[in-house]
Amino acid sequence: MNKLGIFMNFWEKDWAADHKKYIKKAAEIGFDILEFQAQPLLEMTDDHIRDLRKTADEYGIELTYSLGLDSRYDVSSLDESIRKGGVTYLQNIIRKMEVGGGTLLSGVSYAGWGTPADMQDTKKPYWDQSVKSMREIIKVAEDCGVTYCVEAVNRFETCLINTAKEALAYIEEVDSKNIGVLLDTYHMNIEEDSIGDAIRLVGADRLKSFHTGDNNRRAPGRGHINWDEVFGALAEIGYTGRIISEPFVMQGGEVGRDIHVYRDLIENPCEASIDAEAKYLLEFEKAMLKKYNM
Ligand code: MN
Repeated sequence: MNKLGIFMNFWEKDWAADHKKYIKKAAEIGFDILEFQAQPLLEMTDDHIRDLRKTADEYGIELTYSLGLDSRYDVSSLDESIRKGGVTYLQNIIRKMEVGGGTLLSGVSYAGWGTPADMQDTKKPYWDQSVKSMREIIKVAEDCGVTYCVEAVNRFETCLINTAKEALAYIEEVDSKNIGVLLDTYHMNIEEDSIGDAIRLVGADRLKSFHTGDNNRRAPGRGHINWDEVFGALAEIGYTGRIISEPFVMQGGEVGRDIHVYRDLIENPCEASIDAEAKYLLEFEKAMLKKYNM
């Protein structure tokens, strides 16, 4: 069965939080993976990162990482000083991941999170800057044993890679065994003509991780995405990799601000109700995996 994960900020309104608490919680609920924002690693000592890894190992949890790149470190910037600073920043994050044995990074990590205000008729100059940067970043990822997942996200969050087709073109240009594609159902629902076709286009070899979230960014099954199409296509391509759910349901804090959550998406979002929703989510995905013999 595919390993199933959850993003820590289902529970937390700020990006940095008590990681140990959520390692334990993810294990208690029955998940295999806990994903969280990679940037807080830069603020942690190596000993602290190793300690988190130890706890994760004790609880049988794999830690994976995601990030929305701060525009101050935009590796697609036409300003060379910003671009170079971004390359160093991401290389440092990858080195910190290695300290804790982390092997998977995803998110908007190929450009600043958001769309550049001066981008109009063509994105080619930004694309070229990003590819140039990624060729430098990926060398460190290769040395550190980190797989860099290029996540196709919706048009309101990046101009560079909105679709599976664009993600494939990008990784082909970068050309490294350590770069792959991440598809996310929430973003595919906005950008792809067909979610099933997008999954089939990428295929099992290049699909390095998979994010689930319904059209409203609630847990799978709480919106109108056709989950039979999603899991049917994953089964069809023989995908055996990670499936990590990334619902965001609370207004407020850094997360509500950055994800644009302007109302609570579950009733009374306290820890107990979110725990219950996480249990529902896990059972829903397990049932879909069983249905499609995954
Ligand atoms: Mn995602």
